[in-house]
Amino acid sequence: MPQIVKCANCGYVLYKGNDLVPPKDILKKFNGRCPRCKALLNQNPLSVEVKGQKRFW
Ligand SMILES: [Zn+2]
Repeated sequence: MPQIVKCANCGYVLYKGNDLVPPKDILKKFNGRCPRCKALLNQNPLSVEVKGQKRFW
């Protein structure tokens, strides 16, 4: 079951894959901003789904 990380603001899929990636690495990859809605990801929780469980980081 892959890890799915979405922008909690607009639902844009920031990361989807079988490797567990720390959210801070995802923030770094996108320079801290959602490419779609430009929300600051370090000020809004990321929606993270792992093995069907949803939690906010
Ligand atoms: Zn967004």
